[in-house]
Amino acid sequence: MRNKENPVFVTQSSLPPLNEYVECLTDIFQSKWLTNQGNYARLLEKELAAFLNVPAVFLCANGTLALQLSLRLLGMNGKKIITTPFTYVATTSAIIWEGGEPLYADIDPESLCIDPAHVERLLQEHQDIGGILPVHVYGNACDVYALHDISLKYGVPVLYDAAHSFGSVLDGKSLFAFGDAAIGSFHATKLFHTVEGGCIVAKQEYMEKVALLRAFGHCDDEHICVGMNAKISEPHAAMGICMLPRMPEIMAKRTRLSTLYDELLDINGKSGIRRPALAKDLKWNHAYYPVIFPDHESMTAVLQALKKENIHPRRYFYPSLSTLPYVKRQPCPISEDMAERVLCLPFWPDMDEELLREIADIIRMAISA
Ligand SMILES: *Cc1c(COP(=O)(O)O)cnc(C)c1O
Repeated sequence: MRNKENPVFVTQSSLPPLNEYVECLTDIFQSKWLTNQGNYARLLEKELAAFLNVPAVFLCANGTLALQLSLRLLGMNGKKIITTPFTYVATTSAIIWEGGEPLYADIDPESLCIDPAHVERLLQEHQDIGGILPVHVYGNACDVYALHDISLKYGVPVLYDAAHSFGSVLDGKSLFAFGDAAIGSFHATKLFHTVEGGCIVAKQEYMEKVALLRAFGHCDDEHICVGMNAKISEPHAAMGICMLPRMPEIMAKRTRLSTLYDELLDINGKSGIRRPALAKDLKWNHAYYPVIFPDHESMTAVLQALKKENIHPRRYFYPSLSTLPYVKRQPCPISEDMAERVLCLPFWPDMDEELLREIADIIRMAISA
């Protein structure tokens, strides 16, 4: 039985056996090479590119810095950027931090990803758009083909926030492979992690430019451009080296538990609870277990009932970023409505099946009450 003194959170980080990580640390201690594109960073970049089957992976200290750096890489900094209001706040804050202004396109009510028709309307209404920053929310895929056409038609770059997308495959291609560039987050709570970390996936040709932006803009004594420090350290990269071989097993466990939740919660059935509709031909990574309730009241009832048992799902994603106090208010009725009735349930690969059943029971009771 679970000890109810211990809170249950939305996720729990996966870890490799400690001795495997200690072996890497021993090696790092012996080399005394702790950061600045050492052996582990370079090896992980190569292994990730092979695992994801993409041209190149550039590691960063975290996903937020990867976003900021990519905005500069594609010349999208300091400009109006079309983005989604239904995501983690980092997508918007990176735009603002880089001197830009978010313009929100509402989401599709089925996929919860950005609505390409609204993106195109904004491109018609505004002359000075610097690019599009959509999010593959929960690892589901945006309408990448429509967005690609729009990008070509209006001559603006697309940068995907693929922070949730590790392991999602669309038409045989990693979601990281779409757009002019994509970024990943390897934060401890993400599906694949390096404790803190992130990456940019882009053409190999960007390598030199990324290397400059990521490490102070100079090459030895030659100073070329304004840079920053977005490098990943060797102990962080080593965690990735230990985690990567575990991904197939982690994905299989996620798929199994996700299917169990689906059955117990009667998803898309009489319970009235549904999940975001996955893109056609997507092999989903099961990065989260998001559920959409019929209304705000049922979502709140479930939240309260779970809280009483010391179980704490997250309101991913709330609030709709279009309502943030520091952005210009823009109506996005679908995003605002979804933000009022969506929850991400506790879900991680080594989650106890008994706990999952208990959570499903509490939810069923709360919505039938
Ligand atoms: C986690 C996350 C980020 C930020 O990544 P960090 O590695 O935590 O900096 C950005 N965008 C989205 C959608 C995220 O979920």
